[in-house]
Amino acid sequence: MISNLSETKDFYSTIIIGGGIVGAGVFRDLSLHDIDTLLIDKKDFASQTSSKSSKMLHGGIRYLENFDFPLVWEALHEKNLWLKLAPHLCFEEKFYLPIYSDSIRPKWMIRIGLFLYDLLSSFQNSPYEMKNKIETLEINADLKEEDLKGSGVYHDAVVHDGRLTIEVLRDAAINPRCHALNHIGLEDYEFLNDGRIRVILKDEIEGVTKEVFCNDIVFATGPFTDKVLAKSAQIHWNPQLLPSRGSHIWISKERLKIKTAILLTPNDGRVIFVIPQADRILVGTTESKVEEEYFDLQPTAEEITYLLANLNQYFPKAKIQEDDILSSFAGIRPLVKDDSTATLGKTARVHKYFQPLKNCHVLVGGKYTTFRTMAQDVARSIVHKHKKAYIQDKTLAEFRFKMRYNPFKQKGFTPEQEAQVRKYEFIRCEEDFNRRL
Ligand SMILES: Cc1cc2nc3c(=O)[nH]c(=O)nc-3n(C[C@H](O)[C@H](O)[C@H](O)COP(=O)(O)OP(=O)(O)OC[C@H]3O[C@@H](n4cnc5c(N)ncnc54)[C@H](O)[C@@H]3O)c2cc1C
Repeated sequence: MISNLSETKDFYSTIIIGGGIVGAGVFRDLSLHDIDTLLIDKKDFASQTSSKSSKMLHGGIRYLENFDFPLVWEALHEKNLWLKLAPHLCFEEKFYLPIYSDSIRPKWMIRIGLFLYDLLSSFQNSPYEMKNKIETLEINADLKEEDLKGSGVYHDAVVHDGRLTIEVLRDAAINPRCHALNHIGLEDYEFLNDGRIRVILKDEIEGVTKEVFCNDIVFATGPFTDKVLAKSAQIHWNPQLLPSRGSHIWISKERLKIKTAILLTPNDGRVIFVIPQADRILVGTTESKVEEEYFDLQPTAEEITYLLANLNQYFPKAKIQEDDILSSFAGIRPLVKDDSTATLGKTARVHKYFQPLKNCHVLVGGKYTTFRTMAQDVARSIVHKHKKAYIQDKTLAEFRFKMRYNPFKQKGFTPEQEAQVRKYEFIRCEEDFNRRL
């Protein structure tokens, strides 16, 4: 591992720009195929979108309505894979979907949807259930009782998004030919006639720059991609993104009597997740257009008002106020433009791989959950250029980088002890990433 710009080599086969989950996924895949690679991020690793998600590994129950079955199938299989590969960073959670007498989706429709969801997971999901009103309130006492008919219950996973990104990066960096540096920005780049790329890197803390060469460059810059590529005179880049802003708030677990995650479906057609994690509850998200600034966003007052209003509509007894908010965060979904969908909420979460020049790879869109399969498109192309066989099952392996402290591998933990360890892990990590309002 290296820790300074001065320690980089002068040449790498591949340079990856962006240390979010997508860049990390490509980095790990190339590392497993022994391709010498440098990954850089202008900010801290996972400090942008990849630590600002709803923290779910999920198939996307709402994409069923858009008939995005291949996407849901792929994401559910990835979710169930990571539950096995990183049990210390993600766990399965029950999601209650309350049904009211005026709900747009009646009980029979929910039942069919949840069955389809389990079917698309090849029945790897724990099976869905239907609960009546009393059973629903037994588990989630603060939920609005009036007109409640019952709930559908399905299973997705909760993930520590920032930390899984770091572990994917660390696993890649185990290969001594693969280096990763944070706070190093892409200052400039030039595609040379001899097929190489001249890349100018800038240490964002010290201000110094360094020239490094590579054969392939990968842009895994998420929502920043259009802005980064617009600077190049050699790539004639048409903007591909429809960036969509989303915010979350954390409230204390004491403020809401719920024992499972709940999916709220307000009348505006959006969905809001209420997800207990350790001693807190995550509430989000919003969906709106992005203004000029993209880095290190904070929620707006309107977004906070929107989330609180919906929370109080579904949990009227709790009377949650702004003072109850422990912290909040905002990020930008790197949605790819899709002419067939008119609204942000319905824009498909598919990813796209562009190759504007034969040694320039741009990977955008998708979801956190599907980062491994997204990365395969780029990794396959680069590995083939090295005249090597691309083995897609390599990324199914457990991390080579072993956690020194992996309690779930130890036998004999009681459920209470396991819950205690999970609580510690989540709190420690969330405190790193969240800023107070
Ligand atoms: C509100 C919200 C909720 C979401 N919830 C979920 C969810 O529950 N489940 C799910 O599967 N997905 C979810 N997503 C989607 C998921 O978070 C993203 O698809 C994913 O994190 C994108 O990762 P990325 O690596 O492409 O982008 P990022 O994580 O943003 O990484 C891009 C990196 O590029 C770096 N960079 C930019 N410019 C430069 C430069 N010039 N030089 C060097 N580095 C640069 C940035 O610093 C950044 O770290 C959610 C997204 C949002 C916004």
